[in-house]
Amino acid sequence: MKYADLHLHTRYSDGTFTPEELVAEAVQHSLSALALTDHDTVEGCADTARACAAAGITFITGTELTAEIDDTEVHLLGYFLDTANERLLTEITKFQTVRQQRIHEMVARLNALGLPLQVEAVFALANCRSPGRPHVARALVKAGLINHLDEAFDRFLKKGRPAWVPKARMSAPESIQLIHQAGGLAVMAHPGLNRTDDIIPGLVAAGLDGIECFHTKHSTLMSERYLGFADQFHLLVTGGSDCHGYSKARPLIGTVKLPYEYVEKLTAAALARRPAAPGANG
Ligand code: AMP
Ligand code: FE
Ligand code: FE
Ligand code: ZN
Repeated sequence: MKYADLHLHTRYSDGTFTPEELVAEAVQHSLSALALTDHDTVEGCADTARACAAAGITFITGTELTAEIDDTEVHLLGYFLDTANERLLTEITKFQTVRQQRIHEMVARLNALGLPLQVEAVFALANCRSPGRPHVARALVKAGLINHLDEAFDRFLKKGRPAWVPKARMSAPESIQLIHQAGGLAVMAHPGLNRTDDIIPGLVAAGLDGIECFHTKHSTLMSERYLGFADQFHLLVTGGSDCHGYSKARPLIGTVKLPYEYVEKLTAAALARRPAAPGANG
């Protein structure tokens, strides 16, 4: 049997692996295909594609965007994107700028709470254009201001806590359109995480192509539930570990193994979407 992992992060956002380290892990877990889905960036795709080619692994470009619909946050995965697409790059650059501003704001709030964290320490640790809360959490641990990453989220960084700052988010229809115009397929990420099933019909109406039925945080029952939604709304099925490297004690890659038939269906759908190359028929 061949398997894939279509939800992975590297150092280009909040993962801890370099693309090369990620692909080495994929080899260890005998994966035949993988997709890189760093938050608000496609920057790691070139290096990951190269490492995959060397390892004989099929690579799929991707990203994970934060969107909203009916006042509900939803993460949208874009697959098979043209990573040189100008509009895509313009929009994700805006998200990255907001992420960087947000780091300043989160650190200011932490400072006001009496934690002497330096913003430069967070940026040095993140060392990427798409920094996020995990970088702030890691910097807090590194500075010895808290003991554990979970503590950072529980006490300060999760929604409703004093250093939480909202992230920029597009409307889901806009986000889906952005993915489509870049040649990609739009997939609802980890629907079981926030149990917001009521937004699915609206996403489908906006052009959603697929749903991530298999995810580390989905129970078997949840996966079955979302396979049911996929059937009902004629959506493609995807799955992945959402591995962020050593942000957990043990990397999650390998814990979700998507059967290859789903990759084949996804690939066929992406190819069918692509306009015929001009002049291809003489
Ligand atoms: P951000 O994109 O900056 O809002 O950060 C979201 C990321 O933080 C997610 O992709 C996870 O990697 C991580 N995360 C969110 N909630 C938690 C939590 N409670 N504990 C640890 N990591 C978390
Ligand atoms: Fe993340
Ligand atoms: Fe997510
Ligand atoms: Zn993710």
